[in-house]
Amino acid sequence: MSTIAHKLQAVDSTIQAACAAAGRPRGAVQLLAVSKTFGADAVLEAIDAGQHAFGENYLQEALDKIAAVAAARPGTAVEWHFIGPIQSNKTRPLATGFDWVHTVERLKIAQRLAEQRPAGLSPLNVCLQVNISGEASKSGVAPAELAALAQQVAALPQLALRGLMAIPEPDTDVARQRAAFAQVRALFDQLNQDGFGLDTLSMGMSADLGAAIAEGATIVRVGSAIFGARNYA
Ligand SMILES: *Cc1c(COP(=O)(O)O)cnc(C)c1O
Repeated sequence: MSTIAHKLQAVDSTIQAACAAAGRPRGAVQLLAVSKTFGADAVLEAIDAGQHAFGENYLQEALDKIAAVAAARPGTAVEWHFIGPIQSNKTRPLATGFDWVHTVERLKIAQRLAEQRPAGLSPLNVCLQVNISGEASKSGVAPAELAALAQQVAALPQLALRGLMAIPEPDTDVARQRAAFAQVRALFDQLNQDGFGLDTLSMGMSADLGAAIAEGATIVRVGSAIFGARNYA
């Protein structure tokens, strides 16, 4: 078995244990394999080990990889999620080439994605990225502005508003990890009380996925625990 297959198995065990501890079924949490900086060969190894959903941060790198994977495994269903910062002049390839976009934080971006999502495709699944770290982070909509943005995005055609995404400040303390994820969960619950019908909480990475699952994550985005350390050089 390849290293990636072994690591996928180990991550699955971690997810399973976290679900069991939280009294949640394993099926309540989807593993998104974050393949940024790794080549199509790594993605193909993961696909051959049974993984079908991948997250990417850098648009051009992602488009090249999506094409290479499609050419190497024609007919294999692979789900691509964009989880990186979005430039407003580069929304079209997101609207045409991805199944999910987790990092919507402004109405203008959502409007462009809605306009550019081809009519022949199912609605683009989107999450709103929430900034729960305040000034420590520049990304994400402020909690106070979330409900208004959700209302506007939910009204757009060709988009399916699925939920919230967050990247809390890294913290090694599990109680503090949980407190941050609990804030996202509270915002999610409030939106659902207001009738939004959201089903997705995208939170938790290699170092804090247990805490995220304890607080209700439905998608964990895991990179280094599957593919190894990233080399940005
Ligand atoms: C890189 C990245 C991840 C994966 O991080 P790991 O610590 O390698 O698991 C998850 N989410 C986002 C938004 C990322 O940019």
